[in-house]
Amino acid sequence: MIYLDNAATTKVFDCAVKAAEQAMLDGYFNPNATYKSAVEAKTAMDDNRRKIASILGAKDGELIFTSCATESNNWVINCCRKKPNGNVVITAGEHASVFEPAMALKNHGIDVRVVPIKPSGEVDTDALAAAVDGDTTLVSVIHVSNETGAVNPIEKISAIVRARAPRALFHSDGVQAVLKTKPISSLGVDLYSISAHKLGAPKGIGALYIKKSVNISPLLYGGGQESGLRSGTQNTPYIAAFASALEQYSKLVDVAKTADIRDKLKEHFEKSGCTILGGNNSGFILTVLIPDVKAEILQNYVFEKGVIIGKGSACAGSKRGNRVLSAMGLDMRQSECCIRISLSVDTCIDDAMRAAQIITDGAEKIRSGNV
Ligand code: PLP
Repeated sequence: MIYLDNAATTKVFDCAVKAAEQAMLDGYFNPNATYKSAVEAKTAMDDNRRKIASILGAKDGELIFTSCATESNNWVINCCRKKPNGNVVITAGEHASVFEPAMALKNHGIDVRVVPIKPSGEVDTDALAAAVDGDTTLVSVIHVSNETGAVNPIEKISAIVRARAPRALFHSDGVQAVLKTKPISSLGVDLYSISAHKLGAPKGIGALYIKKSVNISPLLYGGGQESGLRSGTQNTPYIAAFASALEQYSKLVDVAKTADIRDKLKEHFEKSGCTILGGNNSGFILTVLIPDVKAEILQNYVFEKGVIIGKGSACAGSKRGNRVLSAMGLDMRQSECCIRISLSVDTCIDDAMRAAQIITDGAEKIRSGNV
């Protein structure tokens, strides 16, 4: 099987499974209790938090564990409910876990401004500058698009936000960017969402980076865990798996090598008359518009041949149409013909090219009614 849907989720590394197992079987104590074994569990958790922070380019104490990036994103957006007189700026390219809670803010009377994206998938930074003003309380811009891999210029946007709205918080959804672009500390963000299952860890663990000087209101009240910001006993086995996976991913990741595989795939699809979406790219996602071939039919066809690809984002998989592709200027018919190929650290060129041939052969058969 050739798995090319890594933007949806990645295979869990063996080392992450072992780390979780060890934390469940031997280190299962509540890290907030006070006897020796519990203190050891807390020490292990704190070591893992430090390890994760250091790999991500954050300082110790800047990471709060959550259950997933959806939770991190919702937390950040919902904080704005407490500031009903301000406005919130997001982009049309956001993942649903930013976009939907932002839309729900409107029910609380908050002015939510959605900045357009360009046909390349990147945010229009002039329009963003025009949308941000002295009353803006939060700006949220996705770092790397889960739909196309398009990279937004987060440092440049940070400078715009600081100049136009010095009191606003600047958040970025970094799920598809982590270890594929720059370290968090260099981005100029106040808040940054992270999901572990895109990096070789299990589903069910994520984090929110909160810059040291930044204050946001707690997500969950209770026992005061996670610096009082997210109460609830921490998921120590998955935190151990997260740290172990991240260490392994950071050792294996070779952005130039993966971008080279993507370039070769791009060449293959362009030669076959397909259109590639997304401009400035992370190198890990290739979204291909295959004329007159419905992605769902092609996805099922290639699955039978041992190739797994995505269509649109996994989270939007059940919905008709694609909000982000349509914001890039595609009509419904065109977005239904888009497949998403997403690579990981273990994708090799031979597998990728074999899959590409199976995909284009399949497209040809489907188009000619030969299946
Ligand atoms: N943000 C982006 C850009 C994503 O790609 C995803 C998942 O596909 C999420 C947020 C949600 O992540 P999680 O599955 O951890 O909730």
